[in-house]
Amino acid sequence: MTVTDAPAGDAPAPEPSFAREEGRWTHQWKELYEEVITSGLCTGCSACVISCPHDVIGYEHREGGYKPFHLEEELGLADCVHGEKGCTSCTRACPRFRDWEPTADEHLFGRLREKEEISGISEQVLLVRAADDHVHELGQDGGLVSAILIWLLDEGYIDGALVSYLEGDGSTWRAKPGVATNREEVLAAAGSRYTYCANWLAYDEAVERGLKDLALVGMGCQTSSPPVMWARKIGKVGKPVKFNIGLLCSKTFDDRIFDELFDAKYGIKREQIKKMNIKGVFQIWTHDGEYHEVPLKECHAWTREGCNHCPDFAAEHADISTGGIGKFNDYTLTVVRTELGREVMTRMIKAGLVEVKPAEEDPAAIALMDRLARVSRNRWPDTAIGFPKVMTPPPPKKKKAAAPAAPAPASDAQPSEVTPGSQES
Ligand SMILES: Cc1cc2nc3c(=O)[nH]c(=O)nc-3n(C[C@H](O)[C@H](O)[C@H](O)COP(=O)(O)OP(=O)(O)OC[C@H]3O[C@@H](n4cnc5c(N)ncnc54)[C@H](O)[C@@H]3O)c2cc1C
Ligand code: SF4
Ligand code: SF4
Repeated sequence: MTVTDAPAGDAPAPEPSFAREEGRWTHQWKELYEEVITSGLCTGCSACVISCPHDVIGYEHREGGYKPFHLEEELGLADCVHGEKGCTSCTRACPRFRDWEPTADEHLFGRLREKEEISGISEQVLLVRAADDHVHELGQDGGLVSAILIWLLDEGYIDGALVSYLEGDGSTWRAKPGVATNREEVLAAAGSRYTYCANWLAYDEAVERGLKDLALVGMGCQTSSPPVMWARKIGKVGKPVKFNIGLLCSKTFDDRIFDELFDAKYGIKREQIKKMNIKGVFQIWTHDGEYHEVPLKECHAWTREGCNHCPDFAAEHADISTGGIGKFNDYTLTVVRTELGREVMTRMIKAGLVEVKPAEEDPAAIALMDRLARVSRNRWPDTAIGFPKVMTPPPPKKKKAAAPAAPAPASDAQPSEVTPGSQES
């Protein structure tokens, strides 16, 4: 009996492939649709949408949407006339198609990630906060992302940034991609929204406004696309992106969480919310000065579909990745990854624009980042290409003290029982 003849129950688990793409790139929408969009790997990053030169990929930026779909009727949802004629832009842009992870690693760092580098390749890890109190106050953690954007604009590295705003006066808490070209606009976009915002979608507006040099801010699903585009030579779409800022991320929530959980169970209406954060629990501050906590366990049912198989917690292909993990709530955990990232951090430190602590002051934060990165990598399906799951085995679990039971240190906590100070969304 051959393997293919074996009854389904006895079939061996398929071995993950480590095949690299070679030769002329011929992959088109049909393959993207089959291998990424309908297989569950698609994050909804929208890189394929903005890369399509024929404008035949649609996208709905609202609950239940966040997935690309084909607009032309000729060949249906699964195939594309332009693809049949040789257009390959969408697969060149996609940071989940085929060997995306080693492609981005090689392009950015000249080598593949080692299995010990669970949170991706990096040069240094720091704890950083904006020195400007106003920037710091408006920022989610240390205000570093906003400080970097303002500095990049002032120094002429960029003339615009693709960021996330809240629509209208902010009272609906609906996130909306947009362009920031000055300090005021950067600060209007500061802070974190935990629903999805496909910042790439602001790209067309940036181009229409004649902007040539852009920064992209986004979670790993978005910030892996520029290096993939550059390596796969997509042409002019990737070129304007000159700086790439990643946001650490375990998941985003569907927008329905506001009405179906926060309002229905806790009576917190969208318009009452002033700020939110995730530190072991969903923290919500309201305009009346009250503070509320919603257990993360209750939120998981509203996890956005596109996050379910995402392997990239630490935004591993950004110039600088940033997060809110750790005991210093008013600092941004900062992973400097590329030479350009280091140059920017060094110059900002020299100019006195940021305050910095070595990451050694909070080793539990690094341990937690690696642990959450491991959890995310384990979500990547065994049937997909194997690279994202390459990592050292997990450290052995510490034995629990007999009695009295001590609270588990951050590095040992299970994802569902993260300690206060950890940010696991
Ligand atoms: C959806 C999401 C999940 C996150 N999960 C974690 C986590 O699990 N662990 C962790 O340590 N850190 C997480 N972070 C990162 C953290 O919340 C901060 O964004 C990061 O520490 C930078 O803080 P800052 O004060 O330096 O940034 P700020 O100066 O406040 O700038 C934040 C930037 O992020 C952009 N932004 C805000 N919301 C979104 C969004 N939904 N989509 C795209 N861009 C957005 C803003 O436009 C702004 O430019 C998450 C962030 C987001 C947006
Ligand atoms: S992951 Fe991004 S680029 Fe890939 S198919 Fe989905 S939306 Fe398009
Ligand atoms: S978990 Fe975060 S990085 Fe991954 S797909 Fe979801 S939003 Fe993107």
